[in-house]
Amino acid sequence: MIDVTLESVSKRFPRAGDTAAVDDVDLRIAAGEFFTLLGPSGCGKTTTLRMVAGFYFPSSGRIRFGAEDVTNRPPNKRDTGMVFQNYALFPHLSVAQNVAYGLKIRKVGRADAKRRVDEALGEVHLAGYGDRRIDQLSGGQQQRVALARALVIRPRTLLLDEPLSNLDAKLREETRVEIRRIQKDSGTTALYVTHDQAEAMAMSDRIAVMESGRVRQVGTPQEIYHRPATAFVARFIGRSNVLSVPVVTAGPDTVTVALPGGREVPVAAPADHGLHEGGTAQVSVRPEHITLGAATDEDAITGRVTELEFTGMATNLLVDVGGGEPVQVTAIDVPARIAVGDQVGLRLPAERMWVVAA
Ligand code: ADP
Ligand code: MG
Repeated sequence: MIDVTLESVSKRFPRAGDTAAVDDVDLRIAAGEFFTLLGPSGCGKTTTLRMVAGFYFPSSGRIRFGAEDVTNRPPNKRDTGMVFQNYALFPHLSVAQNVAYGLKIRKVGRADAKRRVDEALGEVHLAGYGDRRIDQLSGGQQQRVALARALVIRPRTLLLDEPLSNLDAKLREETRVEIRRIQKDSGTTALYVTHDQAEAMAMSDRIAVMESGRVRQVGTPQEIYHRPATAFVARFIGRSNVLSVPVVTAGPDTVTVALPGGREVPVAAPADHGLHEGGTAQVSVRPEHITLGAATDEDAITGRVTELEFTGMATNLLVDVGGGEPVQVTAIDVPARIAVGDQVGLRLPAERMWVVAA
């Protein structure tokens, strides 16, 4: 097991202008950790992963595996296992030949190689599939062959770039559990790339949320969900309201703001919030933490329902509170009589609100 460190890593592509695809990224991935780069398309996830793999070299910064500087080392000198979105399997070779590929290159002896291939196929629950052709396998099985091929060389790091995006929704959910189990069993440090926040939350020990080539926040799924650092992170992870509200007083870790309708509430804020009286704070609150009541309720913000969508498990509402974006509310129990156009009261619990950076 080995930790992976990125120190001020940037990547600029020639002919791509001045903007960096990856901009001054610092990360430390602990040994054995399942670590995910999460962000929208084009934010620099694949470029970061490819620099760890050695397919790209950074324009500046260092990459280390443990104490070893691997920044400018080619991929075959890094001991990384890579799983791609399209699996990149050899269609004309059998399952066992595909898995054995990395061993052959490393000149592992025939008997040893066979034992390790069998072991790797067992690990991904494909024991007995060695003689099949790749095109005789389902998408999910091909995905597991790709994983076995990456793991059979006992890599120091396992790198996965959107490996589930070609699977249908149900298989994707099953396979994400499998990948995590296999990674934990093997003890390999894993760097995983996805744009799917639910996938990232379900699989990861920690997540780095990226936007425009930069890391905006690193934390456990719980930290990122409950304490998003920026408005972007709040909106990208799950759904969130981000209200722009006037600051009444500002303390070191609490800021009192005036909610729509005028009620003043103390809201937790990070130490470096930089807000002061008379300024405007961005406050995040999750739709499921808002409760819905009558417009006449004391302490409630009144508004008018503009959209109402029943999803089975819950009902999603949009409520116009007069100015700013409509407030999103998710409620398990909504009185059946509530309809679009109705006046309702919203309760925003202060302990569920959090000041975010703009
Ligand atoms: P993601 O994987 O998050 O979707 P990428 O790392 O693939 O994002 O891309 C980040 C940015 O770098 C994008 O703007 C993309 O167009 C650019 N980019 C990626 N690879 C190259 C390349 N080989 N040459 C020029 N620009 C690139
Ligand atoms: Mg990508």
